[in-house]
Amino acid sequence: MRAIAITVGTILLVTGCSGPSSDTSSKSLHIFATTGYLADAALNIAPDAVITTMVGPGGDPHTYQPSTRDIQQMRDADAVFSNGLHLEAQMTRQLDSLGDKHLAVGEELSASDLIDLTATGEDQPDIEWADPDSDESIGQYDPHIWNDPELWSQVIALMAIKLGELVPEEADSYTVNAAAYRAELREAHEAATTRFQTLDDRQRTVVTGHDAFGYLGRAYQLDIHATDFISTDAQISPRELSELADLIVTQRVPVIFQDNQANPQAIASLNEAVQARGWRVTISDEELYADSLGSESGVDTYLGVFAHNVAAIVMALGADSVNADGLEPAP
Ligand SMILES: [Zn+2]
Repeated sequence: MRAIAITVGTILLVTGCSGPSSDTSSKSLHIFATTGYLADAALNIAPDAVITTMVGPGGDPHTYQPSTRDIQQMRDADAVFSNGLHLEAQMTRQLDSLGDKHLAVGEELSASDLIDLTATGEDQPDIEWADPDSDESIGQYDPHIWNDPELWSQVIALMAIKLGELVPEEADSYTVNAAAYRAELREAHEAATTRFQTLDDRQRTVVTGHDAFGYLGRAYQLDIHATDFISTDAQISPRELSELADLIVTQRVPVIFQDNQANPQAIASLNEAVQARGWRVTISDEELYADSLGSESGVDTYLGVFAHNVAAIVMALGADSVNADGLEPAP
């Protein structure tokens, strides 16, 4: 038995050294992902793949214009994942032209699982579609699907199926990896549920810049308000900003957030309007991660960013909502 084992080992060693190129590198799958969230998902499903992220830390997929290099990389890639639901509003035509290797993950989800913006009752601006050929109905849904880990878990399963179709010999390993990662998402969801349960009903108003947290609000019963709309290029009106300031005062919201997407001026204006009403609100030092991952270790993965956002919100809103300096809201 020992002799056979040694012989087999030797053969493998020789083959590995003398081959023109190793099997592993020749099989390297190139995946192009429009967002960091999708790239991170792909890495968890196919850890040996070469993955290109289009919109990096601090970038904005709503307004991002693909470069010539991006378009070339998309065409050269074996698989392309986009968020869809009009998140990548400036490049729907390029994505649609890629054929079967492209999957717009959000558009594979059941419409009943999505937040229908036309049904929320909130005024949305008249969005001018960048591409007249695009399917306008997909723009009626909130595209920020990653902020519900259970919904994102469905996306992981869809991505694993797609990759398995493209590389059938690896399909089983993608399935196994996806299942393991989905278990981690489940744990993250359960941890978030526990943390948010520490907030009472009066501590559930989250005010931030970019309106990217609708699914988080739905999943954990938070009341989400923002100084801009679902698309980053439209802000609420001065009247709406004034109403949001009133709400912060009447609900004694202690902290408002900046995020890594929206312009900080709107949050500063809101802060001034709140102060003028006799209530002092703190702008959190902990920014929320909206449409892109962070660049630093700990916030450069989906799970890291999700845990960061949950912790930042719970710590800010769970604190005693009476101002530290004793300021009371105007009557
Ligand atoms: Zn967004």
